[in-house]
Amino acid sequence: MEQAIIVGAGPCGLSAAVELKAAGLDPLVIEKGPIVHSIYRYPTHLTFHSTPELLEIGGVPFVTANERPTRLEGLNYYRTVAERKELRIRTYETVTAIEQVETGFAVSVLDLAGRKKRYLTRVVIIASGYFDHPNKLNIPGEQLPKVNHYYMEAHPYAEKKVVIVGGNNSAMDAALELIRVGAEITIVYRGEKLSPFVKAWTKPVIESMVAKGRIRLLFASTLVEIRDDDVLVATGEQSIWLENDFVLALTGFHPDRELLLSAGVKVDVMTGAPHYDPLTMQTCVPGIYIAGVVAAGSRTNEIFIETGRHHGKLIATDLATKVQ
Ligand SMILES: Cc1cc2nc3c(=O)[nH]c(=O)nc-3n(C[C@H](O)[C@H](O)[C@H](O)COP(=O)(O)OP(=O)(O)OC[C@H]3O[C@@H](n4cnc5c(N)ncnc54)[C@H](O)[C@@H]3O)c2cc1C
Repeated sequence: MEQAIIVGAGPCGLSAAVELKAAGLDPLVIEKGPIVHSIYRYPTHLTFHSTPELLEIGGVPFVTANERPTRLEGLNYYRTVAERKELRIRTYETVTAIEQVETGFAVSVLDLAGRKKRYLTRVVIIASGYFDHPNKLNIPGEQLPKVNHYYMEAHPYAEKKVVIVGGNNSAMDAALELIRVGAEITIVYRGEKLSPFVKAWTKPVIESMVAKGRIRLLFASTLVEIRDDDVLVATGEQSIWLENDFVLALTGFHPDRELLLSAGVKVDVMTGAPHYDPLTMQTCVPGIYIAGVVAAGSRTNEIFIETGRHHGKLIATDLATKVQ
């Protein structure tokens, strides 16, 4: 019987593990991929918008030469924290269900080979993030192989006609990389102007590239249909067909609700946010806690590493009085 199982070895799950250890518990972390799987799947050449001290967990300094860390430095940092803090982590095991049993909870997992396992635990902390669930466009053609909801790097799109759907940092960063490989870029964005979340140092570069005609930016526009060689865009009062090779649908992500629901946690119908106490992070099911962006429901820009990394401390403080 485990004292606590943490689902997900993202920054917030790892932070919770460190805080629980400091409170005298010895949690087991179960992770479907490698440690910080979401950061591993970020664009290859990404630089965080946060400065390193705002990404730190467990009081371990995140030292970088530059003002903002790269994805590679992030991977290295979180891996090092896990190693130095001697966290118990089972990687490549996917949690498929959480059931209440007499002594606490039974956590079912599948390993990489498809074998089933079951762990018993008194407490579960769900820190499963959102990265596996991109917000879909729900339009005809979205299933075509030329459509991708994740952007890794520019090389595959060299000299191609690319439509980027979205208006936040992921869309803008991808556009700026694509310019350098000679892609013909159209950004289709439903907003009336650049999102206030676009990084302060990205905004002027985008504006300049739009002014120079290197990026075509269609505000108040939506993608309506995707076909093999073209796409239909509704822009203002018009509908236009654009020749097209690839679509990057960079429209954000939402947390998985299935695991929460399987555990009996109620989820708000409108926002998708689980019912929980923000002072302790305990959900409406006693013994089930949440940490990180999974607490946000659809409002994923309200919780990120900078904020979600503090959830573990709240959980550890609450648990210290309950679990021996
Ligand atoms: C391109 C990009 C750049 C970003 N830059 C920043 C930034 O500069 N600063 C910042 O603060 N935030 C940034 N964010 C947001 C940040 O990545 C997320 O808020 C953060 O990853 C949330 O951490 P988490 O631990 O809650 O979830 P995640 O990091 O998503 O971790 C969840 C983990 O749970 C695992 N998991 C999921 N389901 C299961 C399951 N069923 N069984 C087992 N394991 C499971 C996943 O594999 C994953 O490793 C960025 C996001 C993106 C996409």
